Amino acid sequence: MDIKIERMLVQKEAKDYPMASRIRERGGGIPVVFEHSEMGSEREWKETLPEVGKQTLELISFKGEFLKPCPGTKEYICCGYQILNIGTNCPLDCSYCILQAYFIENYMRIFVNLEAKLNVIAHIIDTQEENIFRIGTGEFTDSLALDPLTGWSEVLVSFISKRKNAVLEFKTKTDQIRGLLNTPTREGIIISWSLNSPSIAAREERGAPSLRKRLEAARQCQQEGFVVGLHFDPLIEHPSWRKEYVKTLELLDKYLDPRRIIWVSLGSFRFMPSLKPIVRKRHPRTCIFDGEFVIGLDGKMRYFKPIRMEMYGFMREKLEQWYKDLGLYLCMESDEVWKKSMGWSPGTSKGLSEYLDKRVLQFFGAPGD
Ligand code: SF4
Repeated sequence: MDIKIERMLVQKEAKDYPMASRIRERGGGIPVVFEHSEMGSEREWKETLPEVGKQTLELISFKGEFLKPCPGTKEYICCGYQILNIGTNCPLDCSYCILQAYFIENYMRIFVNLEAKLNVIAHIIDTQEENIFRIGTGEFTDSLALDPLTGWSEVLVSFISKRKNAVLEFKTKTDQIRGLLNTPTREGIIISWSLNSPSIAAREERGAPSLRKRLEAARQCQQEGFVVGLHFDPLIEHPSWRKEYVKTLELLDKYLDPRRIIWVSLGSFRFMPSLKPIVRKRHPRTCIFDGEFVIGLDGKMRYFKPIRMEMYGFMREKLEQWYKDLGLYLCMESDEVWKKSMGWSPGTSKGLSEYLDKRVLQFFGAPGD
């Protein structure tokens, strides 16, 4: 997978952090076109560079909180995940990407002061020994797409492996696993792949490696001792979707050992209404809006309930035919949808958290083991 970064913007406050130096060094010939101050910076450099996009990488010192609970939504059952903010946007260009609506600009940002804030994050985790922290970096960016430049894996694997009550999930659509494979421990580390049907992957996940390449990377990670997770999110209703998703499930069987999969999530395509015009403009040939949608309790558009249940039920049946104990769960669904498509329900967000914490204990052992 080639990362095409044509220019780097470096905030003055960010330039002295080790990660900034590392990125500039690893980026080799990527020109640093502007070093701007924090205040008024965006207006300043936009006047100079009106055409910034995914080929532009900005290094900044992030002033917000690095570790935050996933906002979820009180109307649906959520998983109690913690988000580790490492940057925003990514070099891939999926048509359905929610980030297109979250951020006005699609240039990428890296929070290079992450290492300097690890002590704050450590304090939060270590002072709540009774809780298991399931943490992910893949909420506002792909966890590994920029890893060859940033070295996130080097920094975070050693940090997490020292914590007794935390696991870190690197969620990706790429095959950028070199950095992870070079780390000395597998303790508390989960590498997860976002998967879809072959036709959706080819048509809607621009810039992402093929499913085979992703699964080859996943296989290599399993062979090297890592625990792997899978995410079928967003499931998209498209022509012959059953046959199409079965093709992906057949690939899973070919490449992966199901006993080393900690969890598989299922989520149907959902979007804020404001995303639609952006996608129509940026991806005019997309098929993602072809289904029938209804507005959900959280204000997002989603497929009609019977369609969602049919998709989840189908995926569940096929996945369980492959292996019974995959840690299947639904992302942001109601108790009713859980029961009707999965045959059981965790009942509440707390129930789902406990279910996933149990998976963590099953794969990594209890704190102090
Ligand atoms: S990989 Fe994730 S973050 Fe990147 S464009 Fe696709 S959906 Fe968005």
